[in-house]
Amino acid sequence: MEITRQSFLVAATSAILIPQVEVADARNSPIYGLPKSSSRRFAWTIDDGASAGAVGTYLNIAEHHNQNLTLFVTSSYSSWRTHSKQISRLLHSGKIQLGNHTVSHKDLSRISEAEIRTQISGCHKFLMNEFGYDARPYFRPTYGNWNAKVLRVAAELGYTVPTMWYGTFGDSGDTPESRVVQLANKWIANGRIVIDHANRVKSEHALHEILGTINSRGLHSVTLREAFGTNFK
Ligand SMILES: [Zn+2]
Repeated sequence: MEITRQSFLVAATSAILIPQVEVADARNSPIYGLPKSSSRRFAWTIDDGASAGAVGTYLNIAEHHNQNLTLFVTSSYSSWRTHSKQISRLLHSGKIQLGNHTVSHKDLSRISEAEIRTQISGCHKFLMNEFGYDARPYFRPTYGNWNAKVLRVAAELGYTVPTMWYGTFGDSGDTPESRVVQLANKWIANGRIVIDHANRVKSEHALHEILGTINSRGLHSVTLREAFGTNFK
């Protein structure tokens, strides 16, 4: 993480009030990994939510397997409402974090400024209305596509942390499950942000394999808020 002289001074002078704070400027490029830490951790992030069954599976992993997950919500999918109660409970206990992944998953790099605003603010309003939850400043650009205009409009709405990933489970399409497990095995490592999707229900076997990879590496998943703390405003 880049620390400017000014932000270092802010951090130094506020150290008494807010210990360990490290203030970052508003970003002009996305994040791909977690800040350094003495604990072994990674961020398992899950996008979209086309399948209510898949969303439910991940919520259960957060609830019962000690893996804290960040879910990037595409708010037009009904899955989020289907699981409203469990989501509220897990938000309250800090086991999940929600991020903004637009209303209907349009490619933000190919639409007008007004449409970008509608996509991001619509999802924001949904999360506020449904869960009383403010997902700022974390958003994930759809398809991982972003440009200066996308980042500027998002930042104007308070979404100053575009969140990319270091490795993908490759499961947004029709990737065979054996390949998904291979990719999870390839990318899950200390300090990384990995991306997964709640669009298809994974088998018990695949999830068992992925959890096995995490455990065998002495890792656990943390939410982005856990990892970045007060780095971002
Ligand atoms: Zn997506």
